[in-house]
Amino acid sequence: MGERQNFTQLFSSLRCLQYLGSLLVALFIVTCSAPEELSPASPKAIFIIVDGIPADVLEATYTPAIDEITEAGAYTQAYVGGEANGPSQSPTVSAVGYNSLLTGTWANKHNVYDNRIENPNYQYWDIFRIAKAHDSALQTALFSTWLDNRTRLLGDGLTEAGGSKLDYYFDGFEQDLQRFPHDDASDYIKDIDDLVSDEAARFVQDQGPDLSWVYLQYTDDIGHRFGDSAELEEAVTLMDSNVGKIWDAIKSRLQTENEDWFIVVTTDHGRDLETGKSHGGQSERERLIWIATNNQNLNEHFFNYPAIVDILPSIATHLKLTIPQEISAELDGQTFIH
Ligand SMILES: [Zn+2]
Repeated sequence: MGERQNFTQLFSSLRCLQYLGSLLVALFIVTCSAPEELSPASPKAIFIIVDGIPADVLEATYTPAIDEITEAGAYTQAYVGGEANGPSQSPTVSAVGYNSLLTGTWANKHNVYDNRIENPNYQYWDIFRIAKAHDSALQTALFSTWLDNRTRLLGDGLTEAGGSKLDYYFDGFEQDLQRFPHDDASDYIKDIDDLVSDEAARFVQDQGPDLSWVYLQYTDDIGHRFGDSAELEEAVTLMDSNVGKIWDAIKSRLQTENEDWFIVVTTDHGRDLETGKSHGGQSERERLIWIATNNQNLNEHFFNYPAIVDILPSIATHLKLTIPQEISAELDGQTFIH
């Protein structure tokens, strides 16, 4: 009996050891595989400039796509135009505003004071140049209804502007008069906006570029023609459906890829208070813009009247770009994300 008991005890001890061994093996597997499962998502950024939409018009108009982006992140009113009555005061004009976003500086630095873009100061690096200097393997793309955004503001390909910074671009259609004959109603611009948005959505879906810019123009053309009107609201809703195509592509990638997308939708200026047909001055409504984003890491600056120049540092933060000290020292904005 005694021997038999001992044998039973020994047997159960062995089983206990075996069990412990399996536990250790399981623990080992979990520990070793954990880092792979927790690998950080690749950061991606895309900014969309939709032209000349006052904050009050956007807020009063049916824009389901921008509403959905805002529900994922947030919406804020913001400003362009630099410091009113100060040295950085900048006209509330299209190319001036785009370049303040692109370079994170006001016109007294980037030196674009109107849409002729005669002598831009490329010493103030644009976001694509910063991205490429940080890591030339980052994939960059531009989808634009206005050719000058690439050739003049970015100066893509020019040595003094940092050489070639775009891996892909889709633009210049407004100069193709056969395919897009110009008409007074700007239907050709509406068609080009649609084309550009379709291509941006396709490219995002297929390639997932690291940094992209989309520029859509139609809303400003309608604003100049009709001012504050049902026509402008209709153009804003059309714009929103174009943004929605791109947002859908991003949502699709979020489901299948380990990526962390930061989308910014903004405008370059407001419009005058009297009719809404013009812009360029320093009135409150012309200086007032807005920013919609899906980002959930917003700091309090985002909710405290940020500026268009804050978008570059925010994108740099998200993409973890190292900005050369002499460039970052000249930035007029600050990040609105953690
Ligand atoms: Zn504009």
